[in-house]
Amino acid sequence: MAVSTFSANPAQPIDFDAALIRRLKQSGPRYTSYPTADRFSADFKPWDYLHAVASVRVQGIRPLSLYIHIPFCDTVCYYCACNKIATKDRSKAATYLAYLKREIEMQGKLFSGINQVEQLHFGGGTPTYLSDEQMDELLAHIRRWFKLAPDDIGEYSIEVDPRTVTPQRIQNLRRQGFNRVSLGVQDFDPDVQKAVNRIQPEQETLAIIQAARDAGFRSISIDLIYGLPRQNLLSMSQTLSKVIAASPDRIAIYNYAHLPHVFKPQRRINESELPGADAKLDMLHLCITRLTGAGYVYIGMDHFAKPGDSLAVAQQQGRLHRNFQGYSTHADADMIACGVSAISAVGTTYSQNEKTLDAYYERIAQGELPMAKGITLTMDDLIRRSVIQSLMCHFELSRSAIELSYPVSFNEYFAEELGRLQQFEADGLVRFDGDWICVTEKGRLLIRNISMVFDRYLSHRPEPARYSTTI
Ligand code: SF4
Repeated sequence: MAVSTFSANPAQPIDFDAALIRRLKQSGPRYTSYPTADRFSADFKPWDYLHAVASVRVQGIRPLSLYIHIPFCDTVCYYCACNKIATKDRSKAATYLAYLKREIEMQGKLFSGINQVEQLHFGGGTPTYLSDEQMDELLAHIRRWFKLAPDDIGEYSIEVDPRTVTPQRIQNLRRQGFNRVSLGVQDFDPDVQKAVNRIQPEQETLAIIQAARDAGFRSISIDLIYGLPRQNLLSMSQTLSKVIAASPDRIAIYNYAHLPHVFKPQRRINESELPGADAKLDMLHLCITRLTGAGYVYIGMDHFAKPGDSLAVAQQQGRLHRNFQGYSTHADADMIACGVSAISAVGTTYSQNEKTLDAYYERIAQGELPMAKGITLTMDDLIRRSVIQSLMCHFELSRSAIELSYPVSFNEYFAEELGRLQQFEADGLVRFDGDWICVTEKGRLLIRNISMVFDRYLSHRPEPARYSTTI
């Protein structure tokens, strides 16, 4: 999508209006997809996915994105909201890999001849739960069924729990072909680590970051969380100082959403130790001030990157994209996701695999793609997805660009939404400039609220879905 002549400069500091944030805070989607995954239906069958693959095939060769889900973890972190299985029984991984390889083979056959991959991501759970040998075998299997672009073109990333690896293991991951690494840190404070059952000595984590740098990883990303028990401004400030000194290329700072009725491990968190809403807001403010002050660009949502990082460059050039892994530079790629609970985005469909190991294994044993639910996007979904992508990734929207891509008159089609945006304009969150709808510096932190205006499912479904708060 094109960028306006007065495109909001992503390098500019965002305007933190605490009173406004407090007033507008609500639950809402993170829009890693639109429609969001809670709108997927069991009516979607593997047959619908095959149709989508056929439509992709008609379009000819274009690079694919591959996601591999490894659900196992050694221990459970109490804040965790991921789909994972905590076990020390390593034989479970061997069984899982046998089924995963069969799924990869099924997908490889479907995409035969158009199987060029430029983006591969290993997520979890803990992908490094696998041994070096298991990882070698799995990657060899992937290479048997998909053509991976050379290292200088492809983005091959893996989520690493520093507690599970040694510097030697990091060297091995680079040798195995990974060139981007995302390290879970969350907080360096030992007291906070104890409260969430994730003991991760600072020196060990710093050694792993250094090892990744020495091994030649092109991008090192660090994940933090604010809002954890026993966190306060001082502890957060100390963690930020250490992170900034470690100088990762990207930093993600997630808002801890305490939803113990949804995520069982969170019931073990002592609620009296959780920071209050105002303290959390202060921490977020501190994170933004410190990171932008250290030269990081606010990409959007919870993400920061160095100005020369490919995410920041893609945003400047108007080609940033959002998918299930967050922000991405590969806008046009169909995503094939393998593994329990993994979500694919192929053609105009989304589809999610079975969420339990038993169901996942059973479907594969029967020779079926293990999809449990999904959705084929309507024209309305596609239009709204483009609108929401543009707002989430670029903080602006060209009405004429939407009209060029879809057979609609923007102002008529979105008359109701434009009316609702006027309140955000009055609050100083958006600005209308002829063709453009621009999110102001003040509106950036509330981008989920602004995007929600265009979410048809939110306005048409009475019962609220289970979302985290927008900030
Ligand atoms: S946060 Fe990561 S390592 Fe911890 S339990 Fe969840 S998936 Fe596993």
